[in-house]
Amino acid sequence: MRRLAKAIDGLAEPAVEKIAKDQQEDPFQVLIATMLSAQTRDAVTAAASARLFRVARTPRSMAKLTPAQIQTLIYPVSFYRLILAHSSQENICVDTHVHRISNRLGWVKTRTPEETEHALYRVARRRWWPIINLYLVTWGQNVCRPVYPLCPQCVLADVCPKVGVTRVGRPVNEQRSEAGGRRSEGRGRRSEAGGRRSE
Ligand code: SF4
Repeated sequence: MRRLAKAIDGLAEPAVEKIAKDQQEDPFQVLIATMLSAQTRDAVTAAASARLFRVARTPRSMAKLTPAQIQTLIYPVSFYRLILAHSSQENICVDTHVHRISNRLGWVKTRTPEETEHALYRVARRRWWPIINLYLVTWGQNVCRPVYPLCPQCVLADVCPKVGVTRVGRPVNEQRSEAGGRRSEGRGRRSEAGGRRSE
């Protein structure tokens, strides 16, 4: 920690730390800036927070703004529509999983989650919008993982072009049996070593 203390001296601070200092550590503003910082680059968080706090710095003044006004002020932070909290049927919440899997499936061809969100509005039927996030995040955490996706056991394998996938993971049962094999091999080595000792 002492080495890091010296090494970070002079480097740019994380946006939320900087906002906390600039706003005299006002808890409301730190909370809002922290929410805006989710999946958002620091420079974007800092600029969005500054725009918002110029117009409204307190819960009371912020409550007077319309959602559209707030969206305009904080755009383009990643989650500028807070979709789940209001059960929105109108938006698609795109995080890293939705971005990655939509591209692997060939639904979109995009470089950023922001581009993916807008591309999905064009290609996905509206009735799926509210649940795309739920389905793809669940799939991304369990099967279509960032590295070594489990394509051989994926229910979409026959319709998925697997765009950008170079190496796939092995099915869980194969991993288990291999781990079991390694364990018994380990036991074998131990007993072999035991044998050598007794020799
Ligand atoms: S087949 Fe592979 S790349 Fe395609 S969705 Fe399934 S796990 Fe992801």
